[in-house]
Amino acid sequence: MKTIYFDNNATTKVAEEVLEEMQPYFCELYGNPSSMHAFGGQIGRKIRLAREQVAELLGCDPSEIVFTSGGTESDNAAIKGALAAVPNKRKLITTRVEHPAVLAVCRDLENHGYTMVEFGVDRQGRLDLAELEAEVDEDTAIVSIMYANNETGVVFPIERIAEIVKAKGVIFHTDAVQVIGKIPLNLSESNIDLLSLSAHKLHGPKGVGVLYVHKGTRLSPFMLGGHQEGGHRAGTENVPGIIGLGKACELAAKNIKEENEKVKRLRDRLETAILRSCEGARLNGDKQNRLPNTSNISFEYIEGEAILLLLDRYGICASSGSACTSGSLEPSHVLRAMGVPFTAAHGSIRFSLSRYNTEQEVDYTIEKLPQIVNQLRELSPFVANKAD
Ligand code: PLP
Repeated sequence: MKTIYFDNNATTKVAEEVLEEMQPYFCELYGNPSSMHAFGGQIGRKIRLAREQVAELLGCDPSEIVFTSGGTESDNAAIKGALAAVPNKRKLITTRVEHPAVLAVCRDLENHGYTMVEFGVDRQGRLDLAELEAEVDEDTAIVSIMYANNETGVVFPIERIAEIVKAKGVIFHTDAVQVIGKIPLNLSESNIDLLSLSAHKLHGPKGVGVLYVHKGTRLSPFMLGGHQEGGHRAGTENVPGIIGLGKACELAAKNIKEENEKVKRLRDRLETAILRSCEGARLNGDKQNRLPNTSNISFEYIEGEAILLLLDRYGICASSGSACTSGSLEPSHVLRAMGVPFTAAHGSIRFSLSRYNTEQEVDYTIEKLPQIVNQLRELSPFVANKAD
């Protein structure tokens, strides 16, 4: 059975071109970039190229790129590093809809005596910027707000938020893990101080990412040891991973416009057909300000997990929330923060597409999903009770 992969916000296929670029750096060119000999030195040059490729996509200087082990490390490093750099400030501000890589860190810091402010969102997943502005004060060490939500795809007005935070002289971090390669950025003209990204969300390998650190931003290193990454991140570099990330960024920079148009067209075709053909189906999140590849749909009174299992029988992969929280029976914290009723939040499915999806895959899913939804509706005790 062919796999139809609509779970690209969880992870993406490594592009063939990326794999090809990485391959020599396992068994042939395996030197350590910090070595004095030429064998290692050539690796250092390749890492410099990767740094330039990432910087080109982000519109920043290569010296502002710090390679890490992925999005989670970048988020941890940004928040903990900023707090350590301004030890007299005790407050951090974030939102209730962040990925656990930010939320868990902030909540842990709260247990260690920091004041944490978590902003809620409205029914469309949007923030109240006036409320945010009023909360940022001289005790605030960092504001960390995601660029786009991994579950709903809702995009926050990050440049405006960065401007508000900057005007108060506070460090601003954004988790842009879901955004890179989907929304063009130009960090040289931005007020963002720190930004996290992860290679495996843009057809690069797993276990490698970046923390962008704007020149002059006060930040204590998260990982101590050697002098790699300009002292920001100790540890021998994940050479093949970094090279793969560089290539993935080069491809993204080259193709961002056409790919996003194609992906959005497929996503819209899928979404429109589902909303039309499945009774009680409702879109979650701001329809306009959304990533082009993501659609989060609630099917009222049925279990998201049951839908996923039946889709899986046809080889269709989707998700019922973030990969990190699926497996728990709690409905998504993002949908709950948006005020989506429990019965709908429980029956929510995220479809996240990529450039590798096809029209045939979309049409096959459009054919199968209404049958699955009807089948589960007939079994649902909620629906039976509702009719009583
Ligand atoms: N932040 C967001 C918004 C994500 O979607 C993810 C992964 O799902 C992460 C952070 C974690 O990134 P990584 O898997 O590279 O640690």
